[in-house]
Amino acid sequence: MNTTLQKPAILLSPPHMSGEEQQYIAEAFASNWIAPLGPHVDAFEREFAETVGIGHAAAVSSGTAAIHLALRLLGVGPGDRVFCSSLTFVASANPILYQGAEPVFIDAEPDTWGMSPRALERALEEAAREGRLPKAVIVVHLFGQCARMDEILALCGTYGVPVVEDAAEALGSTYKGRHAGTMGRFGIYSFNGNKIITTSGGGMLVSDDGDAIREARTLASQARDPAVHYEHSRLGYNYRLSNVLAGIGRAQLKVLAERVEARRAVFERYRSALEGLPGVRFMPELSGTRSNRWLTALTIDERSAGISAAQLVAWLAEDRIESRPVWKPLHLQPLFAGTRYYPHGEREDVSARLFRTGLCLPSGSAMTPGEQERVIERLKAGMKSGAAAGI
Ligand SMILES: *Cc1c(COP(=O)(O)O)cnc(C)c1O
Repeated sequence: MNTTLQKPAILLSPPHMSGEEQQYIAEAFASNWIAPLGPHVDAFEREFAETVGIGHAAAVSSGTAAIHLALRLLGVGPGDRVFCSSLTFVASANPILYQGAEPVFIDAEPDTWGMSPRALERALEEAAREGRLPKAVIVVHLFGQCARMDEILALCGTYGVPVVEDAAEALGSTYKGRHAGTMGRFGIYSFNGNKIITTSGGGMLVSDDGDAIREARTLASQARDPAVHYEHSRLGYNYRLSNVLAGIGRAQLKVLAERVEARRAVFERYRSALEGLPGVRFMPELSGTRSNRWLTALTIDERSAGISAAQLVAWLAEDRIESRPVWKPLHLQPLFAGTRYYPHGEREDVSARLFRTGLCLPSGSAMTPGEQERVIERLKAGMKSGAAAGI
């Protein structure tokens, strides 16, 4: 046996092609529609809107660009406040800074790991008292699990604040029968390489407001006014998705339902193998919701498990298994030092606790049961040795 041969790596969430992508790409090449815009873009937008059940969709170059356009369309500018979930990837909040506005971060709550309605309520009350209500609230559906939308929409409705759903991680997830991303004024999705479907890079902005989506397409195309010569009366961006990548997206969208099933099966295999172990708790699924289980996430209580989440990440990496801590909350990021933050309870910072104890396991929809068994055995061994060593 050649002991110098390395085991193959198991990645967190690698791309998973359907096999039909090449056909769509070939079509784009045959018609020489290589440029941004073209028939694949139009079809991708239409098919996507149908899939999630919304009126209109604009295909753009990234999920971040989609959030930026949503804020632009809501008139967010310098001096405005925007509320945002703290437990998320930095891309959820960067567009607030692009617009020169002030982010205010809202904690997570234990049942969804999404925005805490309790913290949001306090934040809105205080903002109303100060006469500085936010221009928008960005709600993130974390790792595919929908946030408590009924409570959040009711609160925002009371104060007349529009909701932007960051469903970058939650395509294919549902909340009481509705798709993640279709319940607020705007929804956004990402087709980055690690997401549940990918175009290598890309995003989608959706809304039932057709005028807003048409305006988004204009802003995403350098805000060119209708004139033969190049006329511009407003600031725009170069945010449109290329026709080639939209072709990849169409092929990926066809297998979305299968990808959701596969990720949910990955989650269930982890759960049945690991749930009984001391200190291990899996991310919950709120009743009435169905997560796409984009990433299998769990928490490790170090005292019971004998090993911390961070130590497990290193332990898995030694065996070429990629895992990750849960997102570092934005209110703890140096970039946002000094930013206003509303925790779930007075002495209860849920997102900080989830960051300390959270672990995301390899969750790719193409992962084989054999590969998953390798992850499970390695995890069990890590917990055993951690407990034995009293780390
Ligand atoms: C990936 C992601 C984004 C950004 O999407 P990009 O397409 O990479 O710009 C935004 N929000 C969340 C929660 C994400 O996970």
